[in-house]
Amino acid sequence: MKHILVVGAGPAGMMAAIKAAENGAEVTLLEKMKKPGRKMMITGKGRCNITNAADVPEIIRNIHGNGRFLNSSMRAFDNQDVICFFEGQGVPTKVERGNRVFPVSDKAQDVVDAMVQRMHELGVTIETEVAVKDLLTQEGRIAGVRTQSGAIYKADAVIVCVGGASYPGTGSTGDGYAMAEAVGHTTVPVRPSLVPLVTEEEWVKDVQGLSLRNVRGTLRVDGEKVQEMFGEMMFTHYGVTGPIILSMSRMASEYLADDSHFVELSLNLKPALSQEKLDARVQRDFEKYQRKQLGNALVDLLPHKLIAPVLDSAFLAADKPVHQITLEERHRLVETLQDLTLVIAGTRPLAEAIVTVGGVSVKEINPKTMESKLVPGLYFAGEVTDVDAYTGGYNLQAAFSMGAAAGNWSVWND
Ligand SMILES: Cc1cc2nc3c(=O)[nH]c(=O)nc-3n(C[C@H](O)[C@H](O)[C@H](O)COP(=O)(O)OP(=O)(O)OC[C@H]3O[C@@H](n4cnc5c(N)ncnc54)[C@H](O)[C@@H]3O)c2cc1C
Repeated sequence: MKHILVVGAGPAGMMAAIKAAENGAEVTLLEKMKKPGRKMMITGKGRCNITNAADVPEIIRNIHGNGRFLNSSMRAFDNQDVICFFEGQGVPTKVERGNRVFPVSDKAQDVVDAMVQRMHELGVTIETEVAVKDLLTQEGRIAGVRTQSGAIYKADAVIVCVGGASYPGTGSTGDGYAMAEAVGHTTVPVRPSLVPLVTEEEWVKDVQGLSLRNVRGTLRVDGEKVQEMFGEMMFTHYGVTGPIILSMSRMASEYLADDSHFVELSLNLKPALSQEKLDARVQRDFEKYQRKQLGNALVDLLPHKLIAPVLDSAFLAADKPVHQITLEERHRLVETLQDLTLVIAGTRPLAEAIVTVGGVSVKEINPKTMESKLVPGLYFAGEVTDVDAYTGGYNLQAAFSMGAAAGNWSVWND
């Protein structure tokens, strides 16, 4: 009987342990925290967006960091397999907006419990509060691991599923990178994704908490448009967050990593209207409020808190009477309503990112089996690898697919 060691009890590690045990291996799962699945517990705001109901090509399109690397493992264990697994463990699922799949109970705890329950059914040994420090090799092959306390665990195969480096309080402290490098693997430098952005403009503080729906955000680098997203966003005391911001943060962080780039976010507050139509709309409001000051003439057009920053950005005085606004000033206002620009100073730290970009290079991992191309018997799965996705259940699906492949092939391979 093969003895398989899995390091890290997140979604990738638990799925790997389950698959290896289902194939008849003796499996030990080592987890450094007190309980398995700490990060999973906070996914989807505690509801756990398990996967996405779209077809596999669409899922892969949403895995911006090396999605194509998952072609094989995801076809072998796809979103339907994930849904079947949880339904089979007594966790019914439902599909919400954007094809996001959640447990009907809306409880991430049920998802974690189902995985732990399955491991118990299969006789997986789960050892918690055991932090692995090094991978041990013998004659070029994996031989086991050494823990922080110096204990040695021997195994026929080791599957490293220690996650990325974001939300370190959940146990994902980036331990896998040094482990992998010590046995010859290359790691791609890590940076945050799905992370709020920090702006140079201080006025965001005055509008913190304000959510905007149906805006178009454009990310501009050195004056050139690099990405555009339509949807919802929110102002915070340091900058901006919300769905479209988090999605654009991956690309923003890539450019921000190089100091020479100038990164801006342009907000089109009225994307449904052409410039001419918006101008006509502003003119109507000006007629309606012709006896008022400019600051009081925009109440139908903008949330109250946003009037001052928009007027400041357009270099217009809020106390100027509407009937004195020149044509040129009105056009400047219209332009600003469709191009309210914020300079991006940086991202919030990696610790606050939903996912980590970078990690163990996928070039050195077999995409079908997840086995290291350098050290036979060593496998990597989940966020420890250089794979990351947008929000929508894609990150967990990636972890499950990679974990299932590693679990299966660690037993099937010679
Ligand atoms: C706030 C938040 C919300 C999210 N929501 C969603 C969502 O709804 N849907 C979605 O698809 N994705 C979501 N994600 C992303 C998703 O949680 C991760 O991509 C996923 O958990 C990665 O799985 P993993 O198994 O690779 O690693 P992790 O879940 O990070 O698990 C790694 C495990 O390894 C353990 N470990 C680390 N180092 C060691 C060591 N040296 N020795 C032993 N054990 C170790 C850790 O304690 C941890 O338990 C969210 C992330 C965050 C932070």
